[in-house]
Amino acid sequence: MPGGLHFSGWKPCAVTLNSELSTFNPTRYHPQVFSRRPTRIEERHLRAADLAFTSRRTTRARRASVSVHCDGRVVVTLPWAAAHDDALRVIVPYLAWVRRRLSAFRRRGQTVLMPRSRDQYLMHREAARSLIGQLMGRHSGIAGRARRIAIKDLRRNWGSCSRAGNLNFNYKLVLLPESLAEYVVVHELCHLRELNHSPRFWALVAAELPDWRHRRKELGKYSP
Ligand SMILES: [Zn+2]
Repeated sequence: MPGGLHFSGWKPCAVTLNSELSTFNPTRYHPQVFSRRPTRIEERHLRAADLAFTSRRTTRARRASVSVHCDGRVVVTLPWAAAHDDALRVIVPYLAWVRRRLSAFRRRGQTVLMPRSRDQYLMHREAARSLIGQLMGRHSGIAGRARRIAIKDLRRNWGSCSRAGNLNFNYKLVLLPESLAEYVVVHELCHLRELNHSPRFWALVAAELPDWRHRRKELGKYSP
């Protein structure tokens, strides 16, 4: 690791990389941040290349850090004085490190993205809605109209399509690599035309995503 960075691996189920970026010395900008105030935390969901991560600004952090958790969460913690956009600057040089940590956790058989919790659902729902809207726009060529689209806390599925033409998507799609979320969205959109897994259905999927088999296999490594 370059100078000024070190690992603090004391958490049993997460690895954290601290980044002592001088630009994030919050006491320089806002000395009052560390007075006796209640902790403030604000989170946002961002994406760097194919990696979804959470940017967390908090009054408790004095420096930027990147954490990779065994459940697949990647969190960039920033001092309150930093902006969410700074999270990208923090994480980009360490993307390879983050991917190595994620695959190490995966090799241990950790594929569950997150424990079920109402809070997590409420926190990620809007980000999921906007990602899914974006992916549906990218594949608007699949003729077939959804009657209603809902983002839900689904227990076992990434998505579903009802006979009435209602699409449900798991909010955890926002935590998957985007190529896999895209596969799920295309899969459900194709069900609006073929509500089965017949060769005709897979031909529709293949027309949109020629590498769908690879994506489906990758998706199998995650559990919602
Ligand atoms: Zn299906």
